[in-house]
Amino acid sequence: MDQFDLVVRGGTVVTAADTARADVGIRGGKIMAVGIDLPKGRDEVDASGLLVLPGGIDSHVHLAQPAFGGPAMADGFESGTRSAIAGGNTTVLPFALQARGTSLRKAVEDYHKEADGQSYCDYGFHMILTDPTPAVLGQELPALVAGGYSSLKVFMTYDDLVLNDRELLEVFDAAGECGALVMVHCEGYDAIRFMTEKLEKAGKLAPYYHAVSRPQSVEREAAHRAISHSELTGVPIMIVHVSGREAMEQIRRAQSRGMQNMGKPAPSISV
Ligand SMILES: [Zn+2]
Repeated sequence: MDQFDLVVRGGTVVTAADTARADVGIRGGKIMAVGIDLPKGRDEVDASGLLVLPGGIDSHVHLAQPAFGGPAMADGFESGTRSAIAGGNTTVLPFALQARGTSLRKAVEDYHKEADGQSYCDYGFHMILTDPTPAVLGQELPALVAGGYSSLKVFMTYDDLVLNDRELLEVFDAAGECGALVMVHCEGYDAIRFMTEKLEKAGKLAPYYHAVSRPQSVEREAAHRAISHSELTGVPIMIVHVSGREAMEQIRRAQSRGMQNMGKPAPSISV
């Protein structure tokens, strides 16, 4: 038997099914054996007294994302994946962001230029779709999904990202055709603009008012609308960044009616 490149020796291996004292033998970047008294590896890690866990997968991160005049992203791939590894995550899934007027394929290619050679862990990309032209939905998206980029995110708010209802329906429909998972950020754009301008006029500019500008009804209404579009197109969606009980109740209500919609919490500010 070929020698292992690395043996993690003497730890307590924890898997989805078991917890047991064992050594882990790695060759060619792959776990090739889990067992007792494995032969010496080229490299050895003494894991006695330690838990040896499968690497975590952080399925929703934002790294090196263009700011479009908004706040710049704090982390790029180097610092972001370094902290992922420090926290036990060995795979991260950030978002390749399509700039309006550009192709989705180019967004993915440009994002690879940010990630490749800069990352301490494995990574895959979701795609943020901000400009669902017929070429993007008809050609680019099916080809990207066939190439392994099978999840996309759309926004119902933010000036440079927001899609209107017709665009959301077109995206859901096209995603259903090519088997892509659609994630939706649900907050009502017009409602937030209305509240923001009202608060600005009143001179209420403190960070606290960011929450006041987006009460639970803003998220609930958008979640209900996205779920209705999902029902109309027959395409299940995942509502991300679910922050309030009322939006969560919309998802539960849809599930109780047999819809496959999902929700993923990630707190933002709601009151
Ligand atoms: Zn996000």
